[in-house]
Amino acid sequence: MSSSYGGTSAFDRLRARLDGRSRACEECGFVDEEGGWKAVTSGATVEYRRECPSCGTDHVRRYRL
Ligand SMILES: [Zn+2]
Repeated sequence: MSSSYGGTSAFDRLRARLDGRSRACEECGFVDEEGGWKAVTSGATVEYRRECPSCGTDHVRRYRL
């Protein structure tokens, strides 16, 4: 858990932003401590998905690169 690794990419910055908040499910309120966002890129946008292990809701965040 160190921030000393080099070469921070846009992906890493976005992921860090996501990891810093919104771990609680918007549907059921379950807080997923271990869950991570999975990144899917499609050219100009990156999509982060996370599925709530409690209720199965798919959370999606979309960002423009
Ligand atoms: Zn949920």
